[in-house]
Amino acid sequence: MNFDVNTIREDFPILKEKIYNKPLIYFDNAATTQKPKAVIDKIVEVYTKYNSNIHRGVHYLSNKATTLTEEARQIVQNFINAGSEKEVIFTRGATEGINLIANSFAEKYINKGDEIIVSELEHHSNLVPWQLVAKKYGAKVIKWPFNDKGELSIEVLKSLINDKTKIITVNHVSNSLGTINPIEDIIKIAHSKSIPVMIDGAQAIQHIAVDVQALDCDFYVFSGHKIYGPTGIGVIYGKEKWLEQMPPYQGGGEMIDTVSFEETTFNELPFKFEAGTPNYVDTIALGEAIKYVESIGIDNIAAYEHELLEYAQKKLETIPQIEFIGTATNKTSVISFNIKGIHSFDAGTILDKMGIAVRTGTHCTEPVMQHFNINGTIRASFAFYNTKEEINELYNGLIKVIELFG
Ligand code: PMP
Repeated sequence: MNFDVNTIREDFPILKEKIYNKPLIYFDNAATTQKPKAVIDKIVEVYTKYNSNIHRGVHYLSNKATTLTEEARQIVQNFINAGSEKEVIFTRGATEGINLIANSFAEKYINKGDEIIVSELEHHSNLVPWQLVAKKYGAKVIKWPFNDKGELSIEVLKSLINDKTKIITVNHVSNSLGTINPIEDIIKIAHSKSIPVMIDGAQAIQHIAVDVQALDCDFYVFSGHKIYGPTGIGVIYGKEKWLEQMPPYQGGGEMIDTVSFEETTFNELPFKFEAGTPNYVDTIALGEAIKYVESIGIDNIAAYEHELLEYAQKKLETIPQIEFIGTATNKTSVISFNIKGIHSFDAGTILDKMGIAVRTGTHCTEPVMQHFNINGTIRASFAFYNTKEEINELYNGLIKVIELFG
């Protein structure tokens, strides 16, 4: 495989940092990824050379910043294979994207008594917005439960769909367990009943090649910061046929066509959904992050991360005190586990002192923790800049944690 992790590590300045005088071992990539120098430099470059509010500017800087922003939109469009740039909307992140879709879709399509199917595996960001709109319109959120491996069953989904189902929403990959969900099958089943599907891709876009046209999904959302880009920028892909019909989410800025005191007409897609001054600097830097990922190749990334997952899994399996939470057959490079008799927070605190960053707690998926009847997990999530040597250090760290707590 054409993959030299040591060369790649040189691209990420933070990986040279010392934590408590120990080399940083960053295994919290599902929460946010580190940024390559190309992305950091791009942010500095835009503020240094091109900063100006975009759209409708007559002067050079505004035109330049607008062009770079729209180029970034095309980079995203090509990366996910959207049919048109009209179907690529920039948001602040996955959460804002889901809130936008939930609110705007519900305003147009959800009525009293309707049902919204939400999987039990969801991040709060893909549950709470649907609870809010369900309450507002008198609709019901229907739980699609997962099995004890952390997998969703198509048969169960089929049993939940009925004439009242208006939309199905599910993540591509679970953030707390790493399960890769069978979204192709989900979308096929839903479409056979003319039900649209929203995919929360926050944990997939950085690990798996996504082709929204091949998937035929109706909506797909993700955050820039999980794919080596900046915080504060995210993407909605939406089929034009839905977006055209859906009302604007917020008002003001470039989302208008004409405004009078009596009436406002709205801009065309995608601008109809981009109210206010857009986060053009981070949009441009997200484009740079995607170019960087493409230069390595998402399939190379997936293969190497899978190697890391299998290595870590085998290594941690040799520790008898470890209980794995979420053992799906198809997983991204996320391992969630507990150590018998030791609180995840205590383990995480000790690992931190060794320079090892893992995430502990509920991972914004309290219903997932409730399913397993636990109060949290230790989650190690790997990116393509991590190494097997670092996983050995995690193993050693966990042994020390167990020794310490007796
Ligand atoms: N969905 C999933 C599956 C996530 O992992 C996250 C972030 N942890 C989100 C949604 C929300 O993303 P953001 O906080 O970037 O809006």
